Amino acid sequence: MIKPQKNVSLKTYNTLGIDVQAAFFTVIKDLQDLHYARDFCRLQACSWLLIGGGSNLVLTQNFAGLVMVMAMSKLDWTSHTDGLEVCAESGCEWDELVAASVKRGASGLENLSLIPGQVGAAPIQNIGAYGVEVKQCLRWVDVFDFNTGACFKLTAEACELGYRDSIFKRHPHWVVTRVNFQLGHHALTKDNPAQLGYGIIAQTIESMTGEPAVGATVQQIRDAVIHIRQSKLPDPKHIPNVGSFFKNPIVSAKQTAKIQQQWPDLVAYKLDDGRFKLAAGWLIDQLGWRGYSQDGVGVHQLQALVLVATGTAVTGDEVLALAQRIQADVFATFDVVLEIEPRLFNSRGEFWLS
Ligand SMILES: Cc1cc2nc3c(=O)[nH]c(=O)nc-3n(C[C@H](O)[C@H](O)[C@H](O)COP(=O)(O)OP(=O)(O)OC[C@H]3O[C@@H](n4cnc5c(N)ncnc54)[C@H](O)[C@@H]3O)c2cc1C
Repeated sequence: MIKPQKNVSLKTYNTLGIDVQAAFFTVIKDLQDLHYARDFCRLQACSWLLIGGGSNLVLTQNFAGLVMVMAMSKLDWTSHTDGLEVCAESGCEWDELVAASVKRGASGLENLSLIPGQVGAAPIQNIGAYGVEVKQCLRWVDVFDFNTGACFKLTAEACELGYRDSIFKRHPHWVVTRVNFQLGHHALTKDNPAQLGYGIIAQTIESMTGEPAVGATVQQIRDAVIHIRQSKLPDPKHIPNVGSFFKNPIVSAKQTAKIQQQWPDLVAYKLDDGRFKLAAGWLIDQLGWRGYSQDGVGVHQLQALVLVATGTAVTGDEVLALAQRIQADVFATFDVVLEIEPRLFNSRGEFWLS
């Protein structure tokens, strides 16, 4: 049985440290709690919001309904001849799962080391880093439909995982309760090669170990990824942020060529369909935003994609106002629309900026 508390500050439940309140607040420890929470919301006729690690959301107002923090955290490992299977409840810490898989020598998740947040949120935006997305290891997820109370399983294919996208963004009433991953067995081999993420991981392994990166262990890859991330990305515990604030925009080959005429150093990756993914951080950097700071809101010194909230009482609206200024500047200069990556919430629920 859940007993929601009233008027609880959410400051410690979002990595931007925005101090808004939840009218009602509860922790979800098992599936039964989700049923109780659903009954509670129906009885109160109120909206709801599920928070994992709070590392990919911007809260702009006190939330008028029930905020639930996911704390279901059972973990099951099964060894098969062709690999290792892990079934993790949504409230498990993502990086603890990666660390545990690497400790077992299993391959698949090592490039996704140190991404903040919970396992349940990983499929929501198909988290990715250094050339790897969670899509590559995901087998299925268990879902609780908050509208109907029904539980069902979705295969990875049915999750419609794309670049920072999934079916869950179109079905926000679906709560992921459990995620199943298929990992590779032990050593990385020719058939199971290491993903050395645009070369930077290989370079880092070589400089850390003094040996060639080919044949690196999953532990060496994890160590390299942690080293790179710690040198580039602010730790939200010290500098509040939600990681990349914008998605890398995908544009046509024609538009890419047009930008390159004026900006020959444009950082762009060709996709299989012929379009190009542009490095949003590079675009923002050209316009001089990196290191910008005013009234406690700014752009990180080392990473132009990351907005930071260093002031003591920063609001979600202040963060969004800066994001919109950057979007307008990028559009005016490059004719490119930057899409916001984190999810935005006001007093009633999710909203989108036009
Ligand atoms: C420093 C930093 C670095 C980051 N680096 C990366 C990176 O390299 N790659 C990357 O992809 N992301 C990155 N992120 C973004 C973030 O860590 C991921 O999106 C992460 O998966 C969010 O998890 P969370 O538990 O914090 O989600 P939350 O912020 O709590 O929630 C995000 C959204 O998912 C929904 N949600 C959460 N849990 C569930 C669930 N169980 N079922 C249904 N909906 C749910 C929430 O309602 C919300 O809409 C970074 C963030 C930070 C702060």
